[in-house]
Amino acid sequence: MGLVVQKYGGSSVADAEGIKRVAKRIVEAKKNGNDVVVVVSAMGDTTDELIDLAEQVSPMPAGRELDMLLTAGERISMALLAMAIKNLGHKAQSFTGSQAGVITDSVHNKARIIDVTPGRIRTALDEGNIAIVAGFQGVSQDKKDITTLGRGGSDTTAVALAAALDAEVCEIYTDVDGVFTADPRVVKKARKIDWISFEDMLELASSGSKVLLHRCVEYARRYNIPIHVRSSFSGLQGTWVSSEPIEQGDKKVEQAIISGVAHDTSEAKITVVGVPDKPGEAASIFRTIADAEINIDMVVQNVSAASTGLTDISFTLPKTEGRKAIDALEKNRAGIGFDSLRYDDQIGKISLVGAGMKTNPGVTADFFTALSDAGVNIELISTSEIRISVVTRKDDVPEAVRAVHTAFGLDSDSDEAVVYGGTGR
Ligand code: ASP
Ligand code: MG
Repeated sequence: MGLVVQKYGGSSVADAEGIKRVAKRIVEAKKNGNDVVVVVSAMGDTTDELIDLAEQVSPMPAGRELDMLLTAGERISMALLAMAIKNLGHKAQSFTGSQAGVITDSVHNKARIIDVTPGRIRTALDEGNIAIVAGFQGVSQDKKDITTLGRGGSDTTAVALAAALDAEVCEIYTDVDGVFTADPRVVKKARKIDWISFEDMLELASSGSKVLLHRCVEYARRYNIPIHVRSSFSGLQGTWVSSEPIEQGDKKVEQAIISGVAHDTSEAKITVVGVPDKPGEAASIFRTIADAEINIDMVVQNVSAASTGLTDISFTLPKTEGRKAIDALEKNRAGIGFDSLRYDDQIGKISLVGAGMKTNPGVTADFFTALSDAGVNIELISTSEIRISVVTRKDDVPEAVRAVHTAFGLDSDSDEAVVYGGTGR
């Protein structure tokens, strides 16, 4: 008898009907002879609605209280799901993150899991229960406060529990049939990927693909937990994310040269204008940013104009950190010694990801050709061993993604990219 962890996202449990549908699926897995642990997200857009509500009573809600509020969303869905399962004649018990033994650090709103002690889950399973765990939350080790893992954190809860319980697989149920070669909301001809390596999936996730969060994939890779991403609305096989290619029939699925195209419109660009071209300048700019606890993404520095000896440095960062970064730089303007700052939040990033890039020299050229054929201007470029990313105007992103997708032969013949639910909010 195996142990499976299943995670259902908000769009899968958006209403009472959804909860009943999911309950049936869970019972199926149990009837197939598995021990089943379920991680559930808040219903539909509950989390967003709770955040809106918090902002109506306070422009900057206290982190501790916001976590207390948001975790209520998952408590609602876990209890309802347990009730629905019992109604089908099976034993179920719901648990908060804290009760399930999800121990985190004490950084509110983006806590990290530091340990999982699932004793109560084990006991519940041993007593024949299906265990339902509230996603995206834990309890801090030192203060014993309730914490959340950051938006979309239920996937990480699921993988962490799968690792702690030594599960065979972590199934992530969502509103699409798996991981696609591009966002199916943008590319109708996106193709479902049968298998993808942890490495390529990590790059896609950090390049803006929202189907799985980076932290969740990182966790899965560290503990070598295979993830099966699939739809709760269809019975189709989804996408396997694991270290080794899966078997299909009697042959292994081959590693694709290009896994997919990701895009991200959540970043902004800051240009520091008129920086003296001498050692230590970049260091003091990025020290300032780091001290403000802001993560940056791409960086470019131009050569200085010979006449002035001044240069510009641009970098990208999450839009949500824009204000903080500008304030921090302004405060240190004298120390750093720049002329002015430019802030641009109308940018988008397009990334091509695939391990095959390492050994296929034409990929970069083909990527740029596809963009130029689509009339898309490139503003910044960055690369890793298995990824090329460019920054363009935000408005160009959908067109650019489709052009690159087609150019790399990723388009499917059928319109298989179905989006079953969710408001995409
Ligand atoms: N409910 C949380 C959110 O919407 C966590 C999750 O869905 O994974 O971000
Ligand atoms: Mg959600």
